[in-house]
Amino acid sequence: MTALSIEHKSINLGQGFPDEEGPEEMKRRVGAAVLEHGNQYPPMFGIPEARQAVARYSEASSGIPANWQTETLITVGATEALASAFMGLLNRGDEVILFDPQYDAYIPLCIANGGVPKVVKLDPSDWSVPHDQLAEAFTEKTKFILVNSPHNPTGKVFSREDLQFIADLCMKWGTYAVLDEVYEHLVFSGSKHISLRSLPGMHERCIRIGSAGKTFSLTAWKVGWVTGPPKLISAVAAAHQFITFTVPSAMQYAVAYGLDKEKPFYRGLGESLHKKRLFLEEQLQQVGFRVLPAQGTYFLVADFRPLIPDDSKEDDVEFCRRLTIEAGVTAIPVSAFYASKNPPRSLIRFCFCKEDEKLQRACAALHQYF
Ligand code: PMP
Ligand code: GLN
Repeated sequence: MTALSIEHKSINLGQGFPDEEGPEEMKRRVGAAVLEHGNQYPPMFGIPEARQAVARYSEASSGIPANWQTETLITVGATEALASAFMGLLNRGDEVILFDPQYDAYIPLCIANGGVPKVVKLDPSDWSVPHDQLAEAFTEKTKFILVNSPHNPTGKVFSREDLQFIADLCMKWGTYAVLDEVYEHLVFSGSKHISLRSLPGMHERCIRIGSAGKTFSLTAWKVGWVTGPPKLISAVAAAHQFITFTVPSAMQYAVAYGLDKEKPFYRGLGESLHKKRLFLEEQLQQVGFRVLPAQGTYFLVADFRPLIPDDSKEDDVEFCRRLTIEAGVTAIPVSAFYASKNPPRSLIRFCFCKEDEKLQRACAALHQYF
């Protein structure tokens, strides 16, 4: 969709990256680190400064202690953390429970590493977890469940009740959980992000994945981190060793600084984004979309059925192409985030971490078009 957006010079509310970049001082620290520190291979698990900062951050942000020497790993973005987790944790034939819709990297990583995906669909009317189907998906072959909360593409923040239900199943079946928590700070007022790892009995079963790209609005940096019990971190690190081995050290120094010193930036992200979400939500509703509930991330999902004739067969891909080419606004078809058959075909994802002026222009274009 980004390629189509560039071709038609549309306003791109598709791909998830923020217009407003993160802290200036972190950028300066990258430059300084290149000049002040060595520029040869840093340690495989990450530089001590970054690992210590990740451990402090885990405790301070989520109340989950982590021993920096045995329970932290620095990766090339959350993407490599995911790749290393799938590669390090799976044996051929292991089953992995995934929710649909889902971030597009999970299924290929699962299959490429010999895993068998067991996909459970969130209810597309309100993104609730279908408890019966989830319980049925667990078997003695389940190696882990992947929980992405706050959730891309829906913006769902898993409730304590959902998480407790998942935790009970993990404990019943002796299963691990991989937690993609890259949007942990992007939660709107009134909601709270809870990590599955903080629930009783789950500390030794979960690995948590974080991303500097999301935490500091610096998506080009590709620095991520993993925290978890030593035996799981060792397994993930065994894969990391042969995927990227290590992570550019200058970026690690800057991220270590940011985790400690730029708390106001990432702790304020949810609040600043909430205003943008409210604006876009209201405008889309005025245009005629039905906006689905969300409590976090920088995405919202809208149903375009009220905008097309009842007998129209136009699907989400066609609608997004038309929106880009004719209305000059780009969104992402939500069916792209489905692995299972028969995805909903009238939902599209908008990304709202964009300059206010750009959001205003996009909404004006939509008002004019519909
Ligand atoms: N997980 C989810 C849910 C994401 O949306 C993203 C963002 N692209 C990633 C992982 C990857 O993060 P990173 O850019 O740090 O590799
Ligand atoms: N996570 C971002 C998104 O969902 C961007 C990642 C990508 O473009 N692959 O839009």
